Amino acid sequence: METLWTKTARGGFVADRALPGPVEVAVIGGGFTGLTAARELLIAGRSVAVFEAGRLGAGASGTNAGFVVPNFAKADPAAVRRLLGTARGDALLRLVGDGANAVFETIAEEGISCDARQTGWLNPAYGAAAAAMLRQRAADWAALGRPVRFLTADEVRAETGMAIYAGGLLDAEGGTIHPLDYLRGLARAVQHRGGTVLEQAPVERVTAVPGGGWRLHLRGLGEVLAGRVLMCTNAFTTGVAARMGRTAVPLRVYQIATASVPPEVARRVAAQGRPVGDTRQNLFTYRLDRDGRLISGGMALLPLGAEGRLGRAVAARLAAELEIVPPVPTEAVWSGTAAMTPDFLPRIHQFGEGWFGGIGCNGRGIAMTAQLGRMLARAATGADPAGLPIPLRPLRPLPFHRLTPLAASAALVQARLRDRVAARNG
Ligand SMILES: Cc1cc2nc3c(=O)[nH]c(=O)nc-3n(C[C@H](O)[C@H](O)[C@H](O)COP(=O)(O)OP(=O)(O)OC[C@H]3O[C@@H](n4cnc5c(N)ncnc54)[C@H](O)[C@@H]3O)c2cc1C
Repeated sequence: METLWTKTARGGFVADRALPGPVEVAVIGGGFTGLTAARELLIAGRSVAVFEAGRLGAGASGTNAGFVVPNFAKADPAAVRRLLGTARGDALLRLVGDGANAVFETIAEEGISCDARQTGWLNPAYGAAAAAMLRQRAADWAALGRPVRFLTADEVRAETGMAIYAGGLLDAEGGTIHPLDYLRGLARAVQHRGGTVLEQAPVERVTAVPGGGWRLHLRGLGEVLAGRVLMCTNAFTTGVAARMGRTAVPLRVYQIATASVPPEVARRVAAQGRPVGDTRQNLFTYRLDRDGRLISGGMALLPLGAEGRLGRAVAARLAAELEIVPPVPTEAVWSGTAAMTPDFLPRIHQFGEGWFGGIGCNGRGIAMTAQLGRMLARAATGADPAGLPIPLRPLRPLPFHRLTPLAASAALVQARLRDRVAARNG
């Protein structure tokens, strides 16, 4: 699929061709989670091979919007503590809160050129109730020692040029990247550290080897033996990935990029170059890329023919919200699938002795996969998975998984109604 990122990527990647011999750890899925886990394992001295079903970037890691946001899309610190208890909740909050730093540190350590900018992330509040909620959320994150603060409506207007917000939350550690250049950079780092990365290598099944370890059956390619296995296949349900993919709701998200906007528009809507995502249920987001293109996104009520329809609708909303007159033409429209878990938190699953998987970044996957990948690597090197900050959950496929996108559409209708109520209540 052509995306803004495939058009503007600067870094290339050449996959390995030959199937490896037996490895200590096999990683299924070459997205951020799998490649981060592979890199960690190589640093820890393990032999590793990554098996990617398509080309690198086929999944959410290649199709996302490049916002690096070190928090949860739907849960605030108090909700996380309520769900997990204070000690486990705080461990997860600290881990996730350090996710953006983990991304930018890896980029620096591996010398990955991916337009990385740690400018901070801005979360404007739509309505008085949202402002009160964000004031509390900012205080809760700050109490954990994170550089998060509440901004007044005037401060938000100075940053975005928008007068509709009642305040906002600023997370100073957020930022933006070119996601495909980051992904390819991670893959090159894995190869430089001695790992193997194969593309077009779909894992159909994994079977137990008598006496210990696992045998991966690759469609059309043969078999590989591995001591341990990490499943990093996100929302996918092809081949062996179905076992984990059916535990989450696959959410189709559409993205657009405009042509470069005039410099005065860029300065007005992103005075500090910060990416923006507001609190509306029907989320409004935007960021600039290195050439001054605006990137925004949305979800469709009906997926049929959605790319063209949604592309036009997102572009029209972007121009109207940011008062861009005349509107700037759209240069790219693309879509991808994010994995949403029922409690909106990431989770680790165990499929057998030494076989783990991780899922559930819920639209915050750039920062969160940096930590999910690290935690999976720890599980693969013998750490007790039940003691890791990301909760170990039983495998529970969602009933009627194929119909869950319809539930997501229904939730979007409700969300739009709630936004109208919030607008009416100021
Ligand atoms: C449109 C969109 C916009 C988003 N925007 C943002 C954003 O701005 N900021 C943010 O933080 N997050 C964002 N997200 C979420 C984020 O991109 C994801 O959470 C993250 O990329 C997940 O990474 P992953 O490695 O777990 O999964 P993926 O990147 O989906 O990788 C899984 C890989 O597994 C492979 N695979 C599947 N089955 C098999 C098999 N059987 N054998 C071998 N390989 C297999 C797939 O081909 C795929 O490449 C967005 C998501 C989408 C879809």
